[in-house]
Amino acid sequence: MAIMNENYCNLKESYLFSQIAAKVSTYVKENPDKKVIRMGIGDVTLPLAPVVVAAMEKAVQEMGVKETFRGYGPEQGYDFVHTALVKYYANHGVTLETSEIFISDGAKSDCGNITDIFSDDNIILVPDPVYPVYVDTNIMRGRKIVYVKGSPENNFLPMPDYTIKADVIYLCSPNNPTGAAYTKPQLEEWVAYALKNDAVILYDAAYEAFVTNSDIPRSIYVVEDAKKCAIELCSLSKTAGFTGTRCGYTVVPHQLKRKAGNGTMMELNKMWLRRQTTKFNGVPYIIQRGAEAAFSEQGVKECGEILEFYRENARIMMATLDKIGIKYFGGIYSPYIWMQCPNGMGSWEFFDYLLEKLAIVGTPGAGFGDMGEGYLRLTAFGSREGTIEAMERMEKSL
Ligand SMILES: *Cc1c(COP(=O)(O)O)cnc(C)c1O
Repeated sequence: MAIMNENYCNLKESYLFSQIAAKVSTYVKENPDKKVIRMGIGDVTLPLAPVVVAAMEKAVQEMGVKETFRGYGPEQGYDFVHTALVKYYANHGVTLETSEIFISDGAKSDCGNITDIFSDDNIILVPDPVYPVYVDTNIMRGRKIVYVKGSPENNFLPMPDYTIKADVIYLCSPNNPTGAAYTKPQLEEWVAYALKNDAVILYDAAYEAFVTNSDIPRSIYVVEDAKKCAIELCSLSKTAGFTGTRCGYTVVPHQLKRKAGNGTMMELNKMWLRRQTTKFNGVPYIIQRGAEAAFSEQGVKECGEILEFYRENARIMMATLDKIGIKYFGGIYSPYIWMQCPNGMGSWEFFDYLLEKLAIVGTPGAGFGDMGEGYLRLTAFGSREGTIEAMERMEKSL
């Protein structure tokens, strides 16, 4: 008899976005004349940068010619992408070796897959509210999860609690859903806590490209000794509009080592390489040529213009919320605005109100954890017209 992984019974049944989709679809059916503005799901809307498209087109041509055709590539990615990323990191003050970077089909996969190299006996520390993937992937392994709370008091940037002994720590900065971003001194505190507990930080930097202020780190490795305790997960999804194209990367420094029960020193980089070469066959060559182009000088420039479009949407949203006097977090270093629900409304109550009264779709904060109750996430990934119209509707009615 096949015994199932019964940890799956402990997953919450309804997935946030399917619940939202069901409500929106009912509303659309009942109100066919209303123009719904979607500011819910965190997906980009602008097309790929021209330099990325050109690189992928060239790669497609190569694949159709015998002399330049490629079959299986290295599981950890081609060196041309590693080299492009080493340069990209160097521009942000971080020195990496090409062998410390692993190319993947996205940060979501790696967030889940990285759990393979950790024992199920670990205590997992997760900030609340947070990207639901960290919680669910660990519930699937039956691990104990503890939470640190984000709240207006700490600007949704929870700091280490030395009364909790955690082994694996998830941090996401700039944060999804709150848009909050840690400063370097704050990350130094997390690194100090991790080193004290011999813990490992899984640092999700999916939104690093939204950071423009030099006070906010774009990588955890700007912190001294972070290479001894942190893995960085990153993605081209938000940086270069690759949500449908699929490409991410994970950095596992050579300095990151932990002792096994029998005294063997385990190098996490080697473990991850072994895991990837065993269970993964790499990202398509065509996509990796696109990724290389995204991190080229021209690519960073073109992608930067796209990010600037989203940042402008966020500024329009923040200006409106300022005007109507609604408190919010984020918006500056991220495409997310984390707004307080007005008049003491709950997350889902305000979600329903926005949908039914204003035909605007947000994401209820409660879907990201208990501390998200009373908040709603809006994204700046929409069109300019849609963003402006949504804000006009809010200004009139809130
Ligand atoms: C969008 C996002 C990612 C990226 O996931 P991909 O699988 O690379 O598309 C990772 N982490 C967070 C917090 C995100 O919001």
